[in-house]
Amino acid sequence: MSYSIEQITELTGATRIGKVEATIDWLLTENTQLSFPEETLYFAIPDKQNGEEKIIADLYARGVRNFVVEVKNTWLGNAAPVNYADYPACNFLEVSNALKTLQKLVEKHRSNYHIPMIGVTGSTGKTIVKEWLYQLLSQDRIVARSPYTSNGQIGVPLSVWQINDQSQLAIIEAKSLESGEMRALQSIIQPTIGVFTSIGRTSQERFSSLQEKCEEALGLFKDCDVIIYNGDDEFIRDSVGKSLFSAREIAWSRVDTDKPLFITSVKKGDTSAEITYQYLGMENSYCFPFTDDISINYSINCLAVCLYLMLPPEEITARMAKLRPIASRLELKNGKRGCVLIDDSYDLDINTLEAALEFQYRHAENKKMEKTLILSDILDTDKAPNVLYKRVGQLLDEHGITRLIAVGRELASAASRFEMKCDFFPDTDALFASGVMQLLNHEIVLIKGARTFNFERIVDYLELKDRDTVLKVNLNALINNLNYFRNKLLPTTRTLCMVKAGAYGAGAVEVSKALRDEKVDYLGVATADQGVEIREAGVTTSIIVTNPIHSSLKKIFRYSLEAEIYNFRILEEIIHSAEREGMMNVPIHIKVNTGMNRMGFDVAELPMLIRKLKEQNTVIPRSIFSHLAGSDGKEFDEFTHQQIALFDKVSSEFQAAFSHRILRHIANSAAVERFPELAQFDMVRLGIGLYGVNPCDNSIINNVSTLQSTIIQLRDVAEGETVGYSRRGKIVKPTRIAVLRIGYGDGLDRHLGNGNFYCLVNGQKAPYVGNICMDLCMIDVTGIACREGDKAVIFGDDLPVTMLADQLGTIPYEVLTNMLPRVKRVYIRE
Ligand SMILES: *Cc1c(COP(=O)(O)O)cnc(C)c1O
Repeated sequence: MSYSIEQITELTGATRIGKVEATIDWLLTENTQLSFPEETLYFAIPDKQNGEEKIIADLYARGVRNFVVEVKNTWLGNAAPVNYADYPACNFLEVSNALKTLQKLVEKHRSNYHIPMIGVTGSTGKTIVKEWLYQLLSQDRIVARSPYTSNGQIGVPLSVWQINDQSQLAIIEAKSLESGEMRALQSIIQPTIGVFTSIGRTSQERFSSLQEKCEEALGLFKDCDVIIYNGDDEFIRDSVGKSLFSAREIAWSRVDTDKPLFITSVKKGDTSAEITYQYLGMENSYCFPFTDDISINYSINCLAVCLYLMLPPEEITARMAKLRPIASRLELKNGKRGCVLIDDSYDLDINTLEAALEFQYRHAENKKMEKTLILSDILDTDKAPNVLYKRVGQLLDEHGITRLIAVGRELASAASRFEMKCDFFPDTDALFASGVMQLLNHEIVLIKGARTFNFERIVDYLELKDRDTVLKVNLNALINNLNYFRNKLLPTTRTLCMVKAGAYGAGAVEVSKALRDEKVDYLGVATADQGVEIREAGVTTSIIVTNPIHSSLKKIFRYSLEAEIYNFRILEEIIHSAEREGMMNVPIHIKVNTGMNRMGFDVAELPMLIRKLKEQNTVIPRSIFSHLAGSDGKEFDEFTHQQIALFDKVSSEFQAAFSHRILRHIANSAAVERFPELAQFDMVRLGIGLYGVNPCDNSIINNVSTLQSTIIQLRDVAEGETVGYSRRGKIVKPTRIAVLRIGYGDGLDRHLGNGNFYCLVNGQKAPYVGNICMDLCMIDVTGIACREGDKAVIFGDDLPVTMLADQLGTIPYEVLTNMLPRVKRVYIRE
């Protein structure tokens, strides 16, 4: 339905500034929702933090030319929010109240239509009932309805505006927050069929009584032809009775046979419920795919509407069976250890708490799970804490919360209000430190926190992430690999675990924590920043930084990292910096070059190094070490033996020059595997082996990392067609192509494309087809039973990373470290 700007001016009684021709199809109140600038009329409703002027400027730049603005009468004359001269070729409609103008315009729009209009209100279930009615009724008529949950003073007019000449029915939900609001909504909606979903016993903050709240809601039904409600709810029944409507009533009841719609029986199965009812002397029944009482009550409201609209009972039965759950702001996520999570970690007030509790309540009933709530202090409130938390306590009782994990000092001081099992923590960090979240098991966990508590961290921690492109890291396998190497060593030999390059791609922080718990002696990183990241995660294990540079020394001191010293320049720099910081005995690790010819002091430099070290006490050598160039290859064994022998000699001379114990180390994973006796010295440095790859023969010890992605589209491609960029994927026989949500932007090497390698889909080989793209790749799944959403293993369990490396002509180290940070790491630990 289009209106000319003249018509709108007339309907609203506004004063029009500007003479531009315009046709208006869209009304807008949020600048984020702009789609059709030329046909949009923007209502500058004050009460926005951003300021109307900025929004108008933004919308103007994006092509909007029609604006409704409020002008205030001041003693200087009328004050407009913007200077019209700055906005040429526009229409400004001046009004005294933009919201009222919006409502008035839509009211006039509404009165052009004579179609059944369903108005839905109540404390809970409005959106579900509206959406289910839509699912039930839209099969044979064109239905306009409120988008998602818009039901307030702005949402309702914008919803009703969507009614047009095609509409045969409309379903609009309405909610009043304060007394008097419903009257305005009623005159915009003018419903002919009223549905009252429920009245909350609990939440009437802004109403002086439940009575008043109920009467306010009933205001929507003033001129309805019929009112539908739960006749077993005494309160609603009495309030409707007192309201003296002339409307017909369809009260339904599960106990009172005299009610117009009598529910004879409700039989609940595992996944569906069967409801038998009597209406106008006839008995019928329907099955529907929900089993909780709350959903059953909502479905009965819908049933009553369908019956009133004279939908044949067989049709009702058929359609009820197909009802789908509605999308909610809240969603269920799979958590670890069989938990189900409800993530509402972004905002918290008492109303959203109640809504979230209801959501949890319904879903817990379906799944018969214990109900746990992780809740923060409710910050954003003008209520006194004692009143507030008393209410919270009641709400938790009503919704059957069995366990409360409370974060914040206010909750802790209100501890006596909560009768269920409780744990209190002063802040989110304390909750993490306590380990209680690791004990959550097969519970439905609602996570509800005020923004400042950063509860998204909790969700991230508890969520089971297996739906996307993820690198699954099995920490148990990592520990098994550590023990595999430890078993080759003397019990006294220390371990330095290399966690450089994000722990070879597995994620430095989690891997470091796991290794700390195994009491490894050192962690090794390449740069100071990597060390800082691990320290900031609370890991206190000693950390060696192998490639320090001058500018990173301060960080090394501040975070108690230990630097590898590889030449005289960096030695001077660290001594100088440490002196300036007033430090003494800063531990350092001396690197000697025994043949690798990469980093380190030459053997000939050692006497001078010893002298320099001995004439100061700012730094102190903690270890001396060297690195083997070919410990993994038999062909280099002679050279390796020479390196080890040379290191043995020079490192013992070095030790002899000092009275304190200096650790000597040279072995990497391959050397521990191949020369455990000869090369272990005081400590070994484990890298690739920890991550599951035996560098000597490329076998897998215990697989740690599995890279998997998801099929997001399937299609059949005919012979003669091509797939992907540059038409490289030539199809020679009918082929089923799956698209995976991973590409070279995640670290998937382009050289694998064009049939050079394959991934595994449900255990079967699916070759890459055509060029690998930035975010996607295509694979051939012809003959493989698979569906969209199925996983594909790029490497890992059942497809060793070493095979991928061989195909690419590289080493597994590179494949592992090429996984970019945007690939989520998910940690598995039994
Ligand atoms: C990376 C690294 C290691 C570990 O080597 P792997 O072959 O992965 O076992 C050992 N020492 C140094 C100095 C390293 O940089």
